[in-house]
Amino acid sequence: MSNKLVFVLNCGSSSLKFALIDSQSQQQILSGLADSLGSAQPFLQVKYQGEKRKTALAPQATHALAISELVNQLSELALGQHIIAIGHRVVHGGERFTQSVLINDEVMAQMEQVSDLAPLHNPANIVGIKACQKVFTDLPQVAVFDTAFHQSMPARAYLYPLPYALYKEHGIRRYGFHGTSHFYITSEAAKVLNKPVEDLNIISAHLGNGASITAIKNGKSVDTSMGLTPLEGLVMGTRCGDIDPAIPTFLMDQLGYSEQQVTNTLNKEGGLLGLSQLSNDCRVIEENAAQGHVGAQLALDVFCYRLAKYIASYTVPLGRLDALVFTGGIGENSDTIRAKVLAQLTIFGFSVDHSANKAARFGQSGQITHEDGPKALVIPTNEELVIAQDAIRITNNLEQ
Ligand code: ADP
Repeated sequence: MSNKLVFVLNCGSSSLKFALIDSQSQQQILSGLADSLGSAQPFLQVKYQGEKRKTALAPQATHALAISELVNQLSELALGQHIIAIGHRVVHGGERFTQSVLINDEVMAQMEQVSDLAPLHNPANIVGIKACQKVFTDLPQVAVFDTAFHQSMPARAYLYPLPYALYKEHGIRRYGFHGTSHFYITSEAAKVLNKPVEDLNIISAHLGNGASITAIKNGKSVDTSMGLTPLEGLVMGTRCGDIDPAIPTFLMDQLGYSEQQVTNTLNKEGGLLGLSQLSNDCRVIEENAAQGHVGAQLALDVFCYRLAKYIASYTVPLGRLDALVFTGGIGENSDTIRAKVLAQLTIFGFSVDHSANKAARFGQSGQITHEDGPKALVIPTNEELVIAQDAIRITNNLEQ
């Protein structure tokens, strides 16, 4: 381990995930999470050198409290003093942030303004930044935005066909998310395919609990499936993705749903969970589908069919496709879903190499199609590394 570490933080409304990345080897040396913050039984879990240590936090513990307990543990492990910078994942950067930035008062004020666009996400990110400012008083902090990579999209991809004033005056447009992951996949795919990033045309499918797909032309995002919020696009664990936009008002007018019920239905009760009536967890769905559970089979069918349709449509902005890349918990591990999706794309000539497809899992990259057709690759994502790299780059520039 070198003596320069970057602390990477990803704050949610009641949880925070963190990692320590070695700035030289770029290896993750510690990771963990604090969960159930603000509830009766919050806890902190730290994974270091193959061991997990779980600590109960005081009831109703805040993000700030969890971070200060974590800092104590990092000091005990003789790691805290080696942290040179902090990188924060921030969900929404609006049109203001097209790349990662050093956090200062002005940036904080701009992030607060952008928060109107992501009321479920950005406030938690800001809480995490403020908590770190209290504990790590002297360290530079960098914000890395999920939306930034997608700011290269052309207007035809990011505009909704709504009254133009809603975009101009209220910022209602497609922003896209998972940008850090799609960016990482772009640079890794360029290495695998031995092509300069500027010449690379790929489709990157990030399939986790949240799922999104991005068309990347000449190394830049030109279209992506998530929109104003991370609800649009693919079928996800509990999020519905694309639906008829009239459904929310139908639920309210015809079925008497409240606004909150509609929000819950679309965000928390849809997707794999809603269709299967079983689980949002893809592993559970796959196991049950294999045993004949009809709901689970239906959930897999809808998930894969819709994903295949998106992949097909993203050949439109690309013209030439160098590779389709699967990533995220499902994309990296589920040979079943990958095979089922590619089987619906034979019109493009994809031909699955079933033994390579089965082998590409648990962090193993690989090409899963035969050489005679277009390439599909599996590449494990690493958002923490991108955040750490940006924090190092921006901090190094400060020193020069
Ligand atoms: P998040 O979006 O929360 O970061 P992940 O990228 O970790 O989520 O992906 C979680 C999803 O990956 C879950 O649906 C989980 O079931 C799925 N997954 C993980 N391992 C496997 C596996 N071996 N087979 C199928 N799905 C898997």
